[in-house]
Amino acid sequence: MQLNGKVALITGAASGIGKAIALVYAKAGAAVAIADINLAAAQQTADEIKAGGGRALGVAMDVTNEDAVNAGIKTTVDAFGQLDILISNAGIQIVKPIVDYSFADWKKMQAIHVDGAFLTTKAALKYMYQGERGGTVIYMGSVHSHEGSPLKSAYVAAKHALLGLARVLAKEGAEHNVRAYVICPGFVRTPLVDKQIPEQAKELGISEDEVVKRVMLGRTVDGQFATVDDVAQTALFLASFPSAALTGQSFIVSHGWCMQ
Ligand code: NAD
Repeated sequence: MQLNGKVALITGAASGIGKAIALVYAKAGAAVAIADINLAAAQQTADEIKAGGGRALGVAMDVTNEDAVNAGIKTTVDAFGQLDILISNAGIQIVKPIVDYSFADWKKMQAIHVDGAFLTTKAALKYMYQGERGGTVIYMGSVHSHEGSPLKSAYVAAKHALLGLARVLAKEGAEHNVRAYVICPGFVRTPLVDKQIPEQAKELGISEDEVVKRVMLGRTVDGQFATVDDVAQTALFLASFPSAALTGQSFIVSHGWCMQ
């Protein structure tokens, strides 16, 4: 029970990677707020955790909306008394070559990934800085925080931005006992990836099988997708790490696709 007595808020936790982190954190003893734009699915995840004996709460939150973010974080603190861990994880993917990428889609990607990370961080720090109680902030980056790939201009730019935000928070937060990390997964088979397989096949003029084998897994050491559990266990390790030795760093979870 490495997270006994801790309270975590995880954005985008109604699905995929965020949901897996919520389940692992709840098992490790944390009370978890499942914050998502899809409230019904968030409540379903919270119910699943409660049915297993854990403490959880579904919270409606569009991470691009400052009022919604502030309200969701306050609801969490009102319910559980504190906030120790923020996982800024909500995300989407839109694949198009730069010349066809609409400015509206570009802005939507930055809003969810970058504005969402900033707004949730700012709101969480208000509680983490109180009495220097401290906390952990984990951003869900990607191998695309370190690498570029065709069709992903907005996503790659947004995921690189998270490295910068984490480095600044590591420095600003240190005196308040706040630590910042970025987890950088390779491809993980979630709805976000399932949706882009046919889209990439169409844009690149190759089969869906080739997208999986060549584009997604071609540079891994074992031809395997990373799993949601690979990522969730990394998030558990970081949230329970006992000192500030690792703060400001990113952790790549990619079956050898990207090594830095
Ligand atoms: P997913 O589609 O399974 O889950 C994303 C969740 O985010 C959904 O529940 C969705 O409702 C929520 N969401 C979307 N917009 C939101 C908003 N404005 N406010 C609040 N919630 C919102 O996707 P996933 O694969 O689990 O992705 C989670 C994170 O992991 C994303 O940041 C993604 O970029 C990152 N990531 C995923 C992969 C992968 O291969 N799946 C790889 C690297 C990084």
